Amino acid sequence: MPFKKPQKRFSQNFLTDPGIARKIVDQLGISPADTVFEIGGGRGILTSILAESGARLFSFEIDRSLAGELKEKFKDRDNVEIVNVDFLKVEPEQYQAGEFKLIGNIPYDITSPLFHWILKYRGLISRVVITTQRELAQRISSGPGGKNWAPISIFTQCHFKVRAVMTIPSGAFYPKPKVHSSTLLLNPSAGYEIENWDNFEKIVRASFMHRRKLLVNNLSEAVALSKEELEAILVRVGLDKIVRAEQLSIEDFIRLAREFKSLDLS
Ligand code: SAH
Repeated sequence: MPFKKPQKRFSQNFLTDPGIARKIVDQLGISPADTVFEIGGGRGILTSILAESGARLFSFEIDRSLAGELKEKFKDRDNVEIVNVDFLKVEPEQYQAGEFKLIGNIPYDITSPLFHWILKYRGLISRVVITTQRELAQRISSGPGGKNWAPISIFTQCHFKVRAVMTIPSGAFYPKPKVHSSTLLLNPSAGYEIENWDNFEKIVRASFMHRRKLLVNNLSEAVALSKEELEAILVRVGLDKIVRAEQLSIEDFIRLAREFKSLDLS
């Protein structure tokens, strides 16, 4: 067997179905002029298809021994570079001056930090295709009004149009994970005018602090205003006093955050 045993430590579940691998890569719409960053090359099932496209490919793999095996496998491909680092620490400018596309079948535990990374470098990213645990993918792609609407969906959808493009049965991976996976496609969108991102982020996080509580009660834990003052703010921005965070659209949060611009948020 050419590759060593899967490592629990890096949450390794390798895709084994070549048909699914091709469908995932197709979502990226690559041309030879593109630069692609791959997160977690693993045993190289996506890497091989990406390499064939002729695009310039950087495949980042944290596991030293897998990275070594990938280097050997792709040593004759001069459009492919295997990099043995933690992707979350990558600064894209070190590898690529302009835009790039991003792809990965990634472990559940790096999904949240990876979405932070994506938002940080969003100006450089022209498309993203991420496969992760289905529940998390549903959360990121859901809209307001349901139980999945959460800070991570809001922050991502402020800058990207997000679509869940397919479900991948757990049996397509080895070892078989406990849950199904889902592939997300992110395309940059014109986005929203958010004057003060830090402030917006704090208000959104505070609003969702306790999901079952009313918005006004969550906000009152974060800002030094009385419940009556907070209710007056909600009414001023066109919201009901008894609204919950999950009912608010991105536009609602933007209007709400503007009201707290000059306040000291904890
Ligand atoms: N893309 C392959 C591998 C999926 S498993 C496939 O579809 O089969 C996830 C891979 O990500 C593993 O190889 C694991 O070692 C790697 N990985 C996990 N955390 C990482 C990180 N922070 N940076 C780079 N690679 C990571």
